[in-house]
Amino acid sequence: MSASATISCSPTSPDVQLEGLALIHADDLSKYYADKRNVAAIQHIHADIAEGEITAIIGESGSGKSTLLRLLYGLLEPDGGEVRYRGWKVKGPLEKLIPGHPAMRMVSQHFDDLNTYANVWDNVASRLSNTDLTAKEEKTRNMLDRLSISHLSSQRISDLSGGERQRVAIARALVTDPEVLLMDEPFNQVDAAFRDRLQQDIRKLVDEDGLTVVLVSHDPSEVLAIADALLILREGKVMAAGKPAEIYKNPPNAYAATLLAKSNILSSEGATLLKLNASPGKTAAIHPEWIQAQPDNHGAGVVKAVLFKGFYEELIVEINQISLKIINTQLSGLKAGERVTLQFERFVVF
Ligand code: ADP
Ligand code: MG
Repeated sequence: MSASATISCSPTSPDVQLEGLALIHADDLSKYYADKRNVAAIQHIHADIAEGEITAIIGESGSGKSTLLRLLYGLLEPDGGEVRYRGWKVKGPLEKLIPGHPAMRMVSQHFDDLNTYANVWDNVASRLSNTDLTAKEEKTRNMLDRLSISHLSSQRISDLSGGERQRVAIARALVTDPEVLLMDEPFNQVDAAFRDRLQQDIRKLVDEDGLTVVLVSHDPSEVLAIADALLILREGKVMAAGKPAEIYKNPPNAYAATLLAKSNILSSEGATLLKLNASPGKTAAIHPEWIQAQPDNHGAGVVKAVLFKGFYEELIVEINQISLKIINTQLSGLKAGERVTLQFERFVVF
């Protein structure tokens, strides 16, 4: 064990503020559920959430996303490691009477926080105290306005659509001016048009108010457009962290490459067969759009399938017994059975 690891393992007083950390900082965080003794839901996670950004935690179902979100918020007690907010330790339910960090609010997956029988206005206004009724009314009106739900003000939650309920849940979470909004699978079960509008509204809140947003999703395609930072989880471990475009261009492993880009993954032997340089034991990833296929009667590749996808086509090409997926944005007119030469614009080795 290194010297620095020894220091970070020593018990730190909860009342000491550590300097130089990201807004939310998870250090060596682990969580075991009692009925899954040998498998940790979250294993030794290090993560930094920057202030005023939208961070998306992505990974398949069961990868530990919700567990991590609840640990960041202080709803769950970690079994190892700790979470810091502005350098201060986030206390779990064992140390706190009211669970959850006071500077954060969470919108759960099923908005179960909402009072179904009350109307939209009361659901939002009830979060505010009655000491200043004018301010209470103004804040509520402003929040409904910013989430474009003013016209629903007197409707009961039970009469709203899923998408409308979600906007009410967000308004209810934000009306008390938290610094951080946590959202678990916010774009689940809403159509693409609704999702895009909600993403624009969340982006506006982040830009105008400096709100920090952490959201969880199992579908990278629905968050790539909105996230400033990504944290990719698999089986409770961090597979990649950083800016979406950077992880996309330089994935650190096959999992990240496949998840974000549906990349072609090759062993070093396979890469060598394609005259790509990968030392023994390494793996190469080639994104489908990094390959160009040119019709060539003497080419080494054979088109196995052409899938028309509208504004692009997907080719399956077999070359030296390797099957490659290629995305062509200029429709090539190639047909199954034709021979091609392939050009590789780029590939990544790890
Ligand atoms: P995700 O949100 O990515 O789907 P979760 O954080 O909900 O993943 O779950 C991670 C793992 O922990 C899964 O294997 C899940 O079955 C398990 N798990 C989650 N919550 C509990 C719980 N309350 N009790 C026991 N196991 C749980
Ligand atoms: Mg979940």
